[in-house]
Amino acid sequence: MEKKFYKLPELTYGYKDLEPYMSEEQLKLHHDKHHQAYVDGANALLKKFDSRNSVEFDIKADAKELTFHVGGYVLHKFFWENLGPASKNGGEPTGTLAKYIKKDFGSFERFKKEFTKAAASVEGSGWAVLTLCKKTDRIFIMQIEKHNVNVIPGFRIMMVLDMWEHAYYLDYQNRRPDYIDAFWKLINWDEVNRKMDVWLRSP
Ligand code: MN
Repeated sequence: MEKKFYKLPELTYGYKDLEPYMSEEQLKLHHDKHHQAYVDGANALLKKFDSRNSVEFDIKADAKELTFHVGGYVLHKFFWENLGPASKNGGEPTGTLAKYIKKDFGSFERFKKEFTKAAASVEGSGWAVLTLCKKTDRIFIMQIEKHNVNVIPGFRIMMVLDMWEHAYYLDYQNRRPDYIDAFWKLINWDEVNRKMDVWLRSP
């Protein structure tokens, strides 16, 4: 059987389309260089796993590296998917997410406040993510350290915000709060709802 590898996903919008909240320069660097590096890192590890009988192989270290690079690949893919031009995105969610926010947080204001806090307080490099647990039928805001997606299995990731410095330093330098404000202008709620509905419908 043919071996499969990761590929850098194409954006569904142009590099200039997130301006003025995310510059062409920032988006291009982040997508073409940083995301590509995780794709390359994951594929290099897959090749190492594929040649486990002929190369020096350390299952503990290599498995950890794999979660880092695959995490980087997946999280960035989700990140691009849940962004879009400010003219068509941002504002308040409707649909499935709106219902869960009302049930679990009371109001969008409260949800936005908590997610913003989770993002702003990421230590070093990491992510703020929204997950949905089907077992308890609740949504949760969580943090991911670096790219190691050690979220509890069953808590599926629905929405992500990249809080690595490489995501915002060209546009915002050290002004994390301004970058988080920009995220709320670009968030594609339709995509978050689509992910939630797919997960809820899956067996
Ligand atoms: Mn990133």
